[in-house]
Amino acid sequence: MPTVYIGLGSNLNNPIYQIKKALRILATIPTVSLKKYSSLYRSKAVGPKNQPDYINSVAVLSVKLSPFQLLKKLQTIEIERGRTRTGKRWQARILDLDILMYDNKQLQSSNLILPHPELYNRMFVLQPLYECVPDLILPNGQQLQDLIRI
Ligand code: ATP
Ligand code: CA
Ligand code: CA
Repeated sequence: MPTVYIGLGSNLNNPIYQIKKALRILATIPTVSLKKYSSLYRSKAVGPKNQPDYINSVAVLSVKLSPFQLLKKLQTIEIERGRTRTGKRWQARILDLDILMYDNKQLQSSNLILPHPELYNRMFVLQPLYECVPDLILPNGQQLQDLIRI
C-alpha cells in the first residue's frame, strides 16, 4: 500500500485540540492506516501576519486510496471540522490537511501537486517529518536530514 505523509495545521478554535482531533479522525478511516504521527510544533503564520500562531504536525499513513480520492477525503474532513474557504490562500483556519508526499509520486494537476510544492521550504513541515522518519529520502533524491537545521 502507498505510504503517504500528511501535514496538519490549525490556528483557530483551540489548535492543539483540532490537531489531536484530526489525528483521531484519520485513524478511523477504513481505507487509511495511521502508522505514526509527530508531536505538535508551533510556528508563525505564512502569508498575512495578523493571525494567530499555527500548531503543526505530520502523520504517516498507509492508504488504499488514489491521490485524488485521498485529497477529497481530506477536504471533506476539513469542512466537517468547520473550515470555511474564502478562496484566498493562507487565511487563518480551523484545520488544514496537505498531502506532502504520496510515495515518491510526482504529479501536477489543477487541484493536486505532488510532492507538496512547499515541502522543501517549510521547516514547520520538515521538522515533524524528520521526527517521524529521520532517514527519509525526499522525491528529489535529497536526504531529509540534510534539510534540517536545528
Ligand atoms: P499551501 O498549499 O501553500 O500550504 P493552503 O494549504 O493554505 O496553502 P489551501 O487553501 O488549503 O492552501 O488549498 C488550496 C488548494 O491547493 C486546494 O484546493 C487543493 O486543490 C490544492 N492542492 C494542490 N496540491 C495539494 C496538496 N499536495 N495537498 C493539498 N492540497 C493541494
Ligand atoms: Ca497548507
Ligand atoms: Ca491546504
